[in-house]
Amino acid sequence: MIARSEIETAVAELGAASYRARQVYQALTQGLAVDFEEMTVLPRALRASLGARLTPRTLEPVEDWRSPAGDTEKTLFATRDGHGVEAVLLRYPRRATVCVSSQVGCAVGCPFCSSGRLGFTRQLSAEEMMDQVLHWARLLRPEGRRVTNVVFMGMGEPLLNADETLRACGLLNDPEGFALAARALSISTVGVVPGIERLSREAPQVNLAVSLHAATDDLRDRLVPLNRRFGLDVVFAACARHVRATRRKLFFEWVVLPGVNDGEEQVAAAASRLRRPLYHLNLIPFNEAGGGFRAPTRDEVESLRRRFVAAGVRCTVRRSPGGEIEAACGQLALRRLER
Ligand code: SAH
Ligand code: SF4
Repeated sequence: MIARSEIETAVAELGAASYRARQVYQALTQGLAVDFEEMTVLPRALRASLGARLTPRTLEPVEDWRSPAGDTEKTLFATRDGHGVEAVLLRYPRRATVCVSSQVGCAVGCPFCSSGRLGFTRQLSAEEMMDQVLHWARLLRPEGRRVTNVVFMGMGEPLLNADETLRACGLLNDPEGFALAARALSISTVGVVPGIERLSREAPQVNLAVSLHAATDDLRDRLVPLNRRFGLDVVFAACARHVRATRRKLFFEWVVLPGVNDGEEQVAAAASRLRRPLYHLNLIPFNEAGGGFRAPTRDEVESLRRRFVAAGVRCTVRRSPGGEIEAACGQLALRRLER
């Protein structure tokens, strides 16, 4: 979508009344309009002159995939400068969750992640993140359904793009606009401490998930290279402050990599940090994405879960849908467009 400031400037320069800018903004975020012609609340002449100056969408859908079961859909979009961005819709009986990309590629470089192996290209703007959500909202509308949750777990590290990610949360949350509750939003991070601190202060109701994956610094340095800058002690200190400030549940993620991070030493080290009120561990079965790692069997995941529970950790297995269309959250990588 177009930035509100751009709408306001255009409306003012065209000599139209300032309330027209609000109507455009609401036509985009509530009416889900894709062009000005649909904005019939505006006079015809204003629609035409706005259309001549501004393009409402920042992203063009290029290609779609749907899982055989129909519960996961993925779309590849092209940005105006020709980069690929992917977003996923996860359908549940009573929820529809959109998994949003926050960057083109990712600079963190986790070796098991396709975004990481791609490297970093550029930040996405809040409007580009919004457009991923609006796309699915439009698709769901004829079914009488809405987007109920948004998770920043697509391509990129959202807290290395904290300004735009927080602005996107504000846009999603805006009662005059898309009006999705902050509690329906989740940000997943590898533990960018200044970003966590901003979240505690500026968006305390947004859910936080910390990608842990390993509980000793030597292994985590390898699996999550940013651990060399924000090691386990400083990440967990930030987590403790976050929970104190927000009084909300804090989620940790552990991508299950058999033979790598499912040994007794890891379970014991993780348990000693995670046995705290409000801490919750989600196991994510690794979806084959290369990098020399293999996907766990169901039994391997279940046995790891039981060992965490036996060690006193609240632990569940997260459904990791869309593996067959490479649409599992965090597995997004664009190939076609960049090629
Ligand atoms: N950069 C952020 C958010 C995007 S990744 C982060 O790392 O937290 C979202 C989640 O998907 C992370 O927990 C990540 O470790 C996980 N993930 C990445 N690649 C995966 C894969 N191939 N299979 C399963 N989970 C994966
Ligand atoms: Fe980046 Fe997250 Fe992938 Fe690591 S797992 S490379 S932080 S997107």
